[in-house]
Amino acid sequence: MRKYNFSAGPSMLPLEVLERVQSQLLDYEGSGMSVMEMSHRSKPYDAINNEAEALLRELMNVPDNYDIIFVQGGASTQFEALPLNLAHNSNCAKGDYIVSGNFSNKAFKEAQKYGDMVVVASSKDKNFSYIPTTTPDMFRKDADYVHICYNNTIFGSRYIDIPDTNGIPLVADMSSMILSQEVDVSKFGVIYAGAQKNVGPAGVTIVIVRKDLQDLANPLCPTMLKWKTQITEKSLYNTPPCFSTYVALEVFRYLKKMGGVKAMQKINEEKAQMLYDYIDNSKLYTNPIEKKYRSLMNVPFVTTSPELDAKFVKEAGEAGLVSIKGHRLVGGMRASIYNAMPVEGVKALIDFMKKFEQENA
Ligand SMILES: *Cc1c(COP(=O)(O)O)cnc(C)c1O
Repeated sequence: MRKYNFSAGPSMLPLEVLERVQSQLLDYEGSGMSVMEMSHRSKPYDAINNEAEALLRELMNVPDNYDIIFVQGGASTQFEALPLNLAHNSNCAKGDYIVSGNFSNKAFKEAQKYGDMVVVASSKDKNFSYIPTTTPDMFRKDADYVHICYNNTIFGSRYIDIPDTNGIPLVADMSSMILSQEVDVSKFGVIYAGAQKNVGPAGVTIVIVRKDLQDLANPLCPTMLKWKTQITEKSLYNTPPCFSTYVALEVFRYLKKMGGVKAMQKINEEKAQMLYDYIDNSKLYTNPIEKKYRSLMNVPFVTTSPELDAKFVKEAGEAGLVSIKGHRLVGGMRASIYNAMPVEGVKALIDFMKKFEQENA
């Protein structure tokens, strides 16, 4: 029996997508082979690659002056690729970072190896329970980019209004919220996201790069990290993560059928609202994030003690609500409720929370 999997990533995929992938596993569209076994230079794979790009462009409304690539290495590789790709005036990038959680801090730390990096604002003072506000004058006029993490997977906060950078390219790690809500891509210079939260299996990473930012790489940037390499070769410079990209395509098709990102956003808002309302009205559970900045995707919460938290995690698991243990930096619980988590899954969680509250009052 399938369980409600609240893992932060890799995470649930829509059942319909898994069933379709299963039905095509041995013989993809009459090719006589699985996509896993297929040459990335073959006709069927070329069609997968092209359609994945086109559908993602359609779903996110990506303007023509941006290219989309599917690469390997996860979001973490992009932490380093970024300062190596965006060095406008020299071989030493200048990056301004807003640190709103663990991943944005990691991005900053990795970038420090490759240039002159500054933390412009941070919410560390209150254990990342809010998103720091910034004004345009806080950024260096000659910065190559400003980096944000749109949704903080571990702490459970998200941006509401993106920073005004006064024209400096804004780069966003969207790993844990891509395709979950509408975003205006034209406000960003670069967007990147690992697939395993909201898109598909681990192994493929989406990078969306504005055209005027494609020729600014440090000469020492490794060929494989250079966005332009894969942009020129339409993500086929070397062997791509074919199977992951194919499953991502099936997810894109599914999202389109469901009404696109706008429809998903509505469902995601409803799911998150239900869970936060319940937590706020309960006597046992609390969520530490400033209300305005609460994530739609990752909902951390605690009971009154670490011992009771551990009991919750154990009993939830026995009730088929799995991978709900909080990240080790935060403790407690974290319910990741990405696109593929059905409303019924959130309802089942709330029912369990009620029962647990009654039993442990
Ligand atoms: C999961 C995650 C990462 C790390 O992704 P990998 O693909 O494992 O490198 C980076 N940023 C955010 C926001 C994430 O949620």
